[in-house]
Amino acid sequence: MEYPYGRDEVIERYSRYISRASHVTYAPIVPYKARNALVWDVEGREYIDFLGDAAVQNVGHSNPRVVEAVKRTADRLLHFTFIYGFPVEPLLLAEKLSEIAPVESPKVAFGLSGSDANDGAIKFARAYTGRRAVISYLRSYYGSTYGAMSVTGLDFEVRSRVGQLSEVHFIPYPNCYRCPFGKEQGSCRMECLEYLREKFEGEVHAEGVALLLAEPIQGDAGMVVPPEDYFRRLKKILDEHGILLAVDEVQSGLGRTGKWFAIEHFGVEPDIITLAKPLGGGLPISAVIGRAEIMDSLPPLGHAFTLSGNPVASAAALAVIEEIEERNLLERAERLGERAKNRLERMKKRHELIGDVRGLGLMLGVDLVKDRETKDRAYDEAKKVVWRAYELGLIVAFLQGNVLRIEPPLTIEEELLDEGLNRLEEAIEDVENGKV
Ligand code: PLP
Repeated sequence: MEYPYGRDEVIERYSRYISRASHVTYAPIVPYKARNALVWDVEGREYIDFLGDAAVQNVGHSNPRVVEAVKRTADRLLHFTFIYGFPVEPLLLAEKLSEIAPVESPKVAFGLSGSDANDGAIKFARAYTGRRAVISYLRSYYGSTYGAMSVTGLDFEVRSRVGQLSEVHFIPYPNCYRCPFGKEQGSCRMECLEYLREKFEGEVHAEGVALLLAEPIQGDAGMVVPPEDYFRRLKKILDEHGILLAVDEVQSGLGRTGKWFAIEHFGVEPDIITLAKPLGGGLPISAVIGRAEIMDSLPPLGHAFTLSGNPVASAAALAVIEEIEERNLLERAERLGERAKNRLERMKKRHELIGDVRGLGLMLGVDLVKDRETKDRAYDEAKKVVWRAYELGLIVAFLQGNVLRIEPPLTIEEELLDEGLNRLEEAIEDVENGKV
């Protein structure tokens, strides 16, 4: 398709025709074409995509294997609803997901987005346990549907205006850089877990809790990595009360952190996993993967969408998984993640603006601060860095207003990763020197 409008006109028309509730802009990219980690805009400008399309493009933009699978399948069977039939592609995908997911004897339910997958996790857990309450985390992000929004702890504004699910309790995430209890890592008693125990002794009746929903690494909260033994100790508490552990791998799953699922870094087996973003390589598909008895706790059509299990999206997902396996992208994510992290640590030595560098694999965050002692978030500076990076041909964004989000495709070429980091450092330097 030729573009009917120039860049500025597209942006102007967006504000006229598209609800502001459905997107946010850090830099005015009007994409025309994308390949692996490169994006070209409608005017032919080239960018390195350090956002990886918001952690969607684990195997790279328009991955040839995925494109081929899409073309082949679309040509034969664009859609046949899963509700009234048995298309084979979603079956093959469910078999593959069962093989790689760290859940015993799982079954799978498909959907279209991370949000509906998280709604599913809540529904299945409630149906299975016969309980209602949900434990979630402050600053978590689970999505935009009613259920997912109700358990999201990032921003309570929308919820307060449109209503929400009841019986949701929020606890602090184990954030060792900005400890909510003012402790230092290594010298704490995991007050964040004590907090949960105290909740169960006080206002929350533990035997009424169906599930705890956790991101294994909190993504939109600013790439917060929990201490190594947090989830093991948490699972023990949950098991004492018969509470299910559901992990949201929408952002962290499918190799992003160097393992198929980020929860595998922490040595616990969850009861339910939700997956979306990278699963379809850019096509809308999500999955809830859980222990069979949990996944059979809802009756037929209890979690079904007309378009879920779409053969084309399922074939794309199978191609994504094959690509990760054949190109050994788990190992690559770990190796490139180390390379990027080392470089960012070296940048931190040179730039006072960088307060912390963290993450696993290629799920990285750079926490920009006004002062390393007070850790005051450098909101204005983060905005300027993202803008300057855009001018230099690098797509990056910030989380929580001040944490740079770095999640390039796992297939990014090493030279391009290095070049992107060069541009990022130049942007930081320019902001520090007051050039922008
Ligand atoms: N869960 C996590 C951890 C996410 O990062 C996101 C999206 O950013 C979602 C869920 C929601 O996914 P979707 O936007 O596909 O509904």
